[in-house]
Amino acid sequence: MTPQIACDILLRAGAAVLGDDTGGVLRDAAIAVDAGRILDIGPHDVLAPRYAPRRRIGSAAHIALPGLVNTHNHTPLALVRGRVEDRGFAPAYLAGVPQGDALSAEEAYLLARLGVYELLRFGTTTLVDFYRHPEALARAAAEAGLRGFIGGRIMDVDTTRLGHGERRHDPALGRAMLAETETFLAGWTGRHPLITPALGPHAADTCSPALLAEVAALARATGLGVHTHLHQSPGEVEVVQARDGCRPVELFDRLGLLGPRLLAGHCIWMQPDDIARVGASGAAVAHAPIGNAAHGAIAPALALEAAGACISLCTDTKSGDMFEAMRCAVQVARIRGAGFGFGAADALRWATRGGATALGLDDVGALIPGWRADIVLLDATMPNLRPLSDGPGLIVHSANGGNVDYVVVDGALVLDAGRPCRFDATEVIAAAQAVTERLWQQAERT
Ligand SMILES: [Zn+2]
Repeated sequence: MTPQIACDILLRAGAAVLGDDTGGVLRDAAIAVDAGRILDIGPHDVLAPRYAPRRRIGSAAHIALPGLVNTHNHTPLALVRGRVEDRGFAPAYLAGVPQGDALSAEEAYLLARLGVYELLRFGTTTLVDFYRHPEALARAAAEAGLRGFIGGRIMDVDTTRLGHGERRHDPALGRAMLAETETFLAGWTGRHPLITPALGPHAADTCSPALLAEVAALARATGLGVHTHLHQSPGEVEVVQARDGCRPVELFDRLGLLGPRLLAGHCIWMQPDDIARVGASGAAVAHAPIGNAAHGAIAPALALEAAGACISLCTDTKSGDMFEAMRCAVQVARIRGAGFGFGAADALRWATRGGATALGLDDVGALIPGWRADIVLLDATMPNLRPLSDGPGLIVHSANGGNVDYVVVDGALVLDAGRPCRFDATEVIAAAQAVTERLWQQAERT
């Protein structure tokens, strides 16, 4: 008998959707994980006697898939969930609604913990999060054990004044927000193996060209990724057109922000020229089909991909459920005329390797030996995952976040039979509830 090989975890699954170039699916599979990476993948009856794991998880009634990469979020904004979705675009700027800008660092942290918990519980293993108080977002992601690309939101338009219909660039505000980002970079660059700082200019209409030029200079100096909202609303396009005489994507191009380092959220209101420009630049798109559809809009994601852009998927602080985002991506693509040539395998690719590529990760997003071990196991005893079948179809068209049973990030178990391993879920929920109630009471009094 061959001696057993020690490893950290041995996962078992009735079906493993590999997410590799072959689109392969392995029935009755096992995955050996050690030192953060996938050591081996193969038939369970071959791997089980070969490895001596410290922990075994999964069963023949689980489905394995690569961890989901969710490329655009603002976790503290769970604050307004369920109360603003029917109140129009950008409701966080309305009077009577708690202003995200007014959150203290502690409040942002307590809300971010809830957002991160939700993402983890529903199978996100890598998140992009940018908002005020980036330290709070980074802390929340790091404590939960997620891979995070975190930025401080930068803008120089005062959202409270915007709520009263007044749009004006305030250089002092822009300087303060850049300083917040610089402090964050100083504190978090190289501090945690799973947390990568990023730059987060809010949008072309809420940042003056001068502020965007400063962000571009910082991006050049640091080599960091830039996350933004681009062509998210007709209003943004109109404001920039009137102010700068060009479209937002042209402004980004002029300032040197459009390129492979850019991850542009939404990209909805684009003409063929804009799409070609984004595609040719090598930029990536964070496609947010759920939130966009809720505003009655659909981004031209397939046209952007055909033009050369890397497409990734996000929930953008809506349900936090990437399965819903994948399903919605298929639906809106077909409403836009994609037909049946675009389907589950494509949406799953966007939600895994697409996201990883968008973030410059070349060993994340597929179940391949040697790659980082970011793995999700779904509980296929749930009736919506029966009858068990091969391939991404069941995952994209029928699974939901509630089916997620185990999550491994960078080789570490962070969700164990539905329970987070590194924090007390009950306490996280109670703290976020208390903060939310207090902030809504304050906002309603003003
Ligand atoms: Zn956003």
